[in-house]
Amino acid sequence: MNCSIELPFDKIFLYVDEQEDLDRDKLKEIIQQRTSRSVKLKCDFFKEKYSKGLEEDIAWTRVRKKNERKFQKPLPKEVKIESEMIEGGKEIRGIIYDGFRLLRLMRELLTVEEEKEHTLVISKRTVGTLEGNEDRYHVRAVINGIPSLISTTGIVEGPAKPREYYFAYGDQREDVLDFRPMSHSDERMESAVASYILQTIFWRLTGDPFCGRDCRLYNSHWQREVIEYQVRSGLCEKHENILKSFSEKPR
Ligand SMILES: [Zn+2]
Repeated sequence: MNCSIELPFDKIFLYVDEQEDLDRDKLKEIIQQRTSRSVKLKCDFFKEKYSKGLEEDIAWTRVRKKNERKFQKPLPKEVKIESEMIEGGKEIRGIIYDGFRLLRLMRELLTVEEEKEHTLVISKRTVGTLEGNEDRYHVRAVINGIPSLISTTGIVEGPAKPREYYFAYGDQREDVLDFRPMSHSDERMESAVASYILQTIFWRLTGDPFCGRDCRLYNSHWQREVIEYQVRSGLCEKHENILKSFSEKPR
């Protein structure tokens, strides 16, 4: 989702789910240092924003069919799962949420200030989008918007591994790879998340979150690329300069 309007900001609201193993202070420090903007660190977005009925609203955003954007009234047990997840005691894998619908729900919950500034939600929830030119949902690592959403599960499961990996069995799977793909609780996750945060920042500043060069903003579709660009690489000269002039801009 690109947008041609520049949306500069003075402050960052960073929500990080409690279930995340991420070092949130380290993440805050990286972003603060790169942007010279103050970062207000918060916990689980839905827990902070909770009011009665929110669990049902979240359950409404579940993806029901992999090739169709059709939603339905959730079952009581699905609402209960959401309620348990908000309370923080439960981690459920296997549910995919429609990214755009979830983002719209999140936007309604923002304060006026959060809507104006740059608000980021880092979550373990799996989000997918089905766009006009696609025949099925794709799991996403990041969805730019207000707020922007980064899914750590999406970083692990969104960008694909090589075809041979999926054809190999069990233990042999790791042998077909000459690199280590991202995993849940990966020690490289802060670095990858920081790169996706930079993508959301460039989306706000220029309307374009991606770069085609050797740069952290590379639009990775493969795990190998995530390791090469989001984990290892810095920004290219062009983006380094844009970020530098933004961070030096008087407020
Ligand atoms: Zn670049």
